[in-house]
Amino acid sequence: MDTVTTDLVLSWLRTVDERVREHADELTRLDSAIGDGDHGSNLHRGFVAVTAALTRSSPSAPGEALTLAGRTLISTVGGASGPLYGSALRAAGKTLDGVEPMPGELLQALTAGLEAVRKLGGAVPGDKTMVDAFTPAVEAFAAALRAGSGLPAASAAAADAAEKGARSTIPLTARKGRASYLGERSQGHEDPGAVSTALVFRALADAAAD
Ligand code: ADP
Ligand code: MG
Repeated sequence: MDTVTTDLVLSWLRTVDERVREHADELTRLDSAIGDGDHGSNLHRGFVAVTAALTRSSPSAPGEALTLAGRTLISTVGGASGPLYGSALRAAGKTLDGVEPMPGELLQALTAGLEAVRKLGGAVPGDKTMVDAFTPAVEAFAAALRAGSGLPAASAAAADAAEKGARSTIPLTARKGRASYLGERSQGHEDPGAVSTALVFRALADAAAD
């Protein structure tokens, strides 16, 4: 059955930890170009702490795992991305009820996560932030479910859309976060937070494919 099990969410979060570790240098390089060069190390520290917290407390429901991950990011990552990702995961976790929610409920949780980021950070699509990857990912996930896809295909569509959204930030001028201090000089660089959001959605797709 195509449900969102606790094991799936734990596997997703562990995969995010691995991918952030593998891509930490790339994320830092992107953040050095238009920010302060700490995005890779911020997320690496955060997701190492998430994996440790999940191992310690072995949550028994998917929402519980996401909420714990969110709280852990908020308390361990100082940069903008910690509170933003932390609030997103916490909001998603609070929305996801029960032990084996359906894919449509994961869509509601992802939507709540995106709303939390937009509320906290005030960014809209086109501002050259993680919102430029997160928004098309949630839209693609919704469209795939409407078309009758199951969780693996909807997650893969979301990951493809997030990667495309991240690439779409290259020509944009940053209007939020540190990169906005550069004005037009932020053009020509991919937004680090949009790239890490694409890693998060690719990790979901890979966890759901197994
Ligand atoms: P900091 O900017 O504090 O150094 P990070 O380097 O960890 O934090 O994260 C930077 C990323 O956070 C940016 O690439 C961008 O995607 C995201 N970001 C920054 N400010 C905002 C905001 N107001 N709304 C949404 N995302 C934002
Ligand atoms: Mg930074």
